[in-house]
Amino acid sequence: MDNSFYITTPIYYVNDVPHIGHAYTTCAADVLARYYRLRGYRVLFSTGTDEHGQKIEKAAWDLGISPQELVDKMVVRFQDLWEKMNISYDEFIRTTDPRHIKVVQDFFRLLDERGYIYLGDYEGWYCVPCETFWPESQLDERLACPDCGRPLEKLKEESYFFALSRFQEPLLQYLESHPDFIMPESRYREIESFIRRGLKDQSISRVGLEWGIPVPSHPRHTLYVWFDALINYLTAAGWGSSPDKFSTFWPSTYHLVGKDILRFHAVLWPGMLMAASLPLPQRIFAHGWWTVEGEKMSKSRGNVVDPYLMIDRYGVDRFRYFLMREVSFGLDGDFSEKALVERSNADLSDNFGNFVHRTLGMVWRYKKGVARKPSPYQDEEWEKLLEEVKEGFHYHMERFAFSQALEQVWRLVHFANRYIEREAPWKLHKEGKEKELEDLLYRLLDNARLLSFFLYPFMPDTALRLRELLGLSPNLEGENWGEALQWSLGPEVYSVREAQPLFPRIVE
Ligand SMILES: [Zn+2]
Repeated sequence: MDNSFYITTPIYYVNDVPHIGHAYTTCAADVLARYYRLRGYRVLFSTGTDEHGQKIEKAAWDLGISPQELVDKMVVRFQDLWEKMNISYDEFIRTTDPRHIKVVQDFFRLLDERGYIYLGDYEGWYCVPCETFWPESQLDERLACPDCGRPLEKLKEESYFFALSRFQEPLLQYLESHPDFIMPESRYREIESFIRRGLKDQSISRVGLEWGIPVPSHPRHTLYVWFDALINYLTAAGWGSSPDKFSTFWPSTYHLVGKDILRFHAVLWPGMLMAASLPLPQRIFAHGWWTVEGEKMSKSRGNVVDPYLMIDRYGVDRFRYFLMREVSFGLDGDFSEKALVERSNADLSDNFGNFVHRTLGMVWRYKKGVARKPSPYQDEEWEKLLEEVKEGFHYHMERFAFSQALEQVWRLVHFANRYIEREAPWKLHKEGKEKELEDLLYRLLDNARLLSFFLYPFMPDTALRLRELLGLSPNLEGENWGEALQWSLGPEVYSVREAQPLFPRIVE
């Protein structure tokens, strides 16, 4: 259990058109999954789609098809995007999958047996598009949905309730003893004060809605979409079906979520798990939102960023790099194509790409593409820097500070570019110092090898192309990260491919 991690994205509402928000959470989860795999951990990475609810049912009947046919068509938009974005998930949970339905019903039965579920009457204001009940206390006289602003419907009906209020004190105690449970800290405080204001029992079933998971033994009721959706994390981890898998990956679990759905994950979900006597996940991290050129992204403004389009225009690794580098994970960020182009021209073309291109070019110009390992092989200044970078990189990655981790990596890039200027290989060549020249070129190539490891979680394609150029094995995840990230352990001889630009500058 110590060397395994379970990393999740939320399951996305299948009726949504995938946008930058979905791409962001999923990219971050992929970066983490690749990072831990590289370090030799066993990783389970899950994502998926939430496919139930009234909106889907209505939309399907409007089209004259069944809800299942509709979601089967819609899910492809997400699956294709993840393929295009190089998302290396292990599990894709669809809430309409029979194995998930069974898990949800088993979970409901368990909570029922333990006395945390009761039948009552629910009366409240419901937003159909958001599939959310709103308590009167959160509404003003317009009776509009606080999230989307659309009119609410008054509903009174028989409903099953989950006794969430009984977990108010246990949750507060848990938060107190687990200060890293919810990150960043501002979100932790927000959730803590929300719980302190008092928790109400949660209505978890509806009547008259067919497109949902039926309550066992009372199938007139279907389960509330959030109750159904959150349980996907147990389905993916093999709860009730694969005890070995489950004990390997639960609770060393990281949930990544957008800040808009933190409450469900940080209050309702832990309450449900406590009711089932299951340990809580290790961490719930809420990231910020993207605005677009300074404005809130919305369909009505017509400024929704289409990840497909960005990848077609700029390539998947520029897009991934920008998402992870531009903003501190946890804070809000602003997206613009101009910023993407500027950042990728500066960081990827002028700095990183230029370093690789120059180095390979010189190895060909002066050494016919071959550089042997110097002996003895030392460079104290460079080794000291590498140690600092490694330490800083791990420190930030373990705290999901992706942008800061990349800043560390770029110290190696900047150093190498300065080193080339300072040591002036062309001078060594002119002066006939061929041994010094080869030693210097080897160091530069080895720096590129080290970069392939650091960059792999963020830009897997680029890292593998770089290794191909260096004449190295593309099987990074099979390498021992601890050993591989050392100066002295590069190959005896580099025999490199001819230089091709990894990131040609984008000219507007
Ligand atoms: Zn709404």
